[in-house]
Amino acid sequence: MRQFQFEFDSTHEFRREITKLDKWCSTHICTNAVFTIFSETPDSGVIKDICDSIEDIMPYALYMGCSSNGNIVDGALSKKPIAITCTVFEYPTTRLKMLQYDFDADSQQSVVEELKKEVADMGGVKAVEMLMTIRGMSLSVLCDGLASLPPEVEIFGGGAFNLDINSNVACVFTKIKGLSSSSIAFLLIAGEDFHIRTSYVTGWKPLGRDLHVTKAKGSLLCELDGKPAYDTYYRYLNIGNDENFFFNTLEFPFLYHCNDIDILRAPTAATDDGSLVMTSDIAENVTARIAYGDPWTILDSVNEESMNVSKFSPEIIHIYSCAARRTFWGNHEASNETTPFNKIAPVSGFYTSSEFLRTNGFLNQHNVTLVIGAMREGEAVESKVKKSPAKNEISGKISMVSRLATFIGAATAELAQANEQLELIAVSDGMTKLFNRSEIQRLIEKQLTEKKMPFTLVMLDIDNFKHVNDTYGHKEGDNILICFAKLLKESVEEIEPRGYAGRWGGEEFMLLLPGRNTDRAFETAEVIRTKFAAMEFTAAGHITVSIGVTAAIDKEQIDELYTRVDAALYSAKETGKNKTVIG
Ligand code: GH3
Ligand code: MG
Ligand code: MG
Repeated sequence: MRQFQFEFDSTHEFRREITKLDKWCSTHICTNAVFTIFSETPDSGVIKDICDSIEDIMPYALYMGCSSNGNIVDGALSKKPIAITCTVFEYPTTRLKMLQYDFDADSQQSVVEELKKEVADMGGVKAVEMLMTIRGMSLSVLCDGLASLPPEVEIFGGGAFNLDINSNVACVFTKIKGLSSSSIAFLLIAGEDFHIRTSYVTGWKPLGRDLHVTKAKGSLLCELDGKPAYDTYYRYLNIGNDENFFFNTLEFPFLYHCNDIDILRAPTAATDDGSLVMTSDIAENVTARIAYGDPWTILDSVNEESMNVSKFSPEIIHIYSCAARRTFWGNHEASNETTPFNKIAPVSGFYTSSEFLRTNGFLNQHNVTLVIGAMREGEAVESKVKKSPAKNEISGKISMVSRLATFIGAATAELAQANEQLELIAVSDGMTKLFNRSEIQRLIEKQLTEKKMPFTLVMLDIDNFKHVNDTYGHKEGDNILICFAKLLKESVEEIEPRGYAGRWGGEEFMLLLPGRNTDRAFETAEVIRTKFAAMEFTAAGHITVSIGVTAAIDKEQIDELYTRVDAALYSAKETGKNKTVIG
C-alpha cells in the first residue's frame, strides 16, 4: 500500500492534484483507493467541494473524513487547514467496506449491533478504523459493545474536533451518507495480505500518591478520598479555578488504571461544588494519580515506541493524537512527537477530541494520548530504522522536571513504606509480633457488628506461668511466649487461613475464627494444645496451655461474649488445666 498526502488552503488546488493521482492509479497497481480528509474548519461548503472533486475524478475511490483540531501531514502539524491523504491498496486480497451511521447517546447500541453484523458478514476483518462526533457524550455503551467484536479485530480511531478547543461544533462525512454533525464512520479492512499493528503512547508519568475516586458520575469527577476533587489540584499544584484552569491542568492530568492499562483524563473545568469536569467518563472506585507531562520524558516514550513500530515494517502510519498534546507542545513543537514515526513510513492523521484503541480486547476511550495505526500489505521487509536515536541526540540531558519528578516519586514511595511499617507497628505486639490487644479487639468488634458470618473465639492461657518465671527466670518465660506465639501464627496460617491471632495480655492469647462453629474451633484448639504440650524447652521442659472456646451469639453485647469465653477458660483451669472447654 501507498500513501499520497496533500495539504491545501483551497479546494481548487486539490482538483489539479487528484487528476494527477487518478492518472497514477490507472498506470500502477491500485486495487482500492481511500481518501481520508481532515479539515480544521467544519464548513460544509469546503468539504462538499472536496467530496465532489473525488466523486467527479476518482468515482471508484472511497472517502471519509472529519473536522479536526489540526492536521498531521508527513508526520508534522500542517500549516494548512485541509489535509487529504489517499491510501492506495495494491493487493487483490485486501477488501474494504465503509460504513456511516447517525450517532448520538441513544443510538450507540444499535450502531454496535449493525457493526457487529457487518464485520461478521464481511469475514476476515482485521481492522476497524473509526471517526466520530463525540463532544460531551458518554461513550461507554459504544466502547463496551465493540469489545465483543472478534478478538483479532484491531479497532482504532479519533473523535472529530474543531480548531477552537472550546467549540462543540464538529462533523464527520463519508462517501456513504455525506456530512453530518452527529455521525460515526467506520472503515473495515479485511484480507490475508493486509497487516496492522496498533499501539499508543502517552509519555505522561504518574506523580505522588494514590488518590481514590470515591465519587464519580459519567465525566464528572466529584470526590477524591472523600473530598472535593478540585481540592487536590489546589493543594498539590496550586492551580486556581480561573480561565486558565484547563491550560494549567493539562500538564497534570489524572492517570488511572482501567482494563489493565493506564488511561489519562484531563479536567477541563471545576464546578462550584469542587467537582471536576473531565474530558471523558471516569469510573468510580478506581485509584488515580496525578501525572505530569515533561517534553523530554514524552520524547523518550515516543522514540521507544517508534522503534517498536519500525520492527513491524509498516508502509503507512495513521496517528490520532489528542488536541491537548498540541496545546501542551504549542504549534511550534507539536511535530516533535510525530516526526520520529515519519522516518518509518508516511504519517498522516489529526488532532482529536478523544482517541480510541482496542487493547487486551477492551476498546478504551483515551485522552491526552497518541494512538498509532501502522499498516502494510504483504510480508514485512527489513526495518528502515535500525537503532534508537541516542538519548542525548534528543534531549541533551534529562530535564530538571524529570529529575524532580523522580525525586518526588522516590520520596513518596519511601513515605508509603514508612507509613505501612508504622501501621504494622501500631497493630502488633512487640514481643510476639501477633496482633496486639486493641487490634484483635477491634477485629472481634467489627466481626460482631458487621454480622457477616458466625464466628468463634478461642482464648488461651499458659498454665502455671508464674511458676515458670519464678523457677527458670523471666528470659525463659519470654522465650516460651515467643515460641507459643509462633505456634499460634503457624497453626492459623495452616488450618485457619481466615482467622486472626492476637496477644490478649501477659500469657493470654485470643484467636478469632470467622465462619467457624465451636466444634471446628475445638478441633483447632486441640491441635494447638497438643502440639504445645509436645514441645520441649531447654530449661522448663514441657509446658501446657488451657483453652476456652465460645461462639458469638447473634445480637449479643461484646462484653457478654468476652465473659463467656473467659468463663470457658476458667472452667478449663478449674478442672485440671491442659484442656479445652467449650462455653
Ligand atoms: P494459671 O495456670 O492459673 O494461668 O497460672 P499462672 O501462673 O499462669 O497465672 P498468673 O496470672 O498467676 O501468672 C501469669 C504470669 O505471667 C505472671 C507474670 O509475671 C507472667 N507474665 C506476664 N507477662 C509476661 C511476659 O511478657 N514475660 C514473662 N516472662 N512473663 C510474663
Ligand atoms: Mg493468666
Ligand atoms: Mg496462666
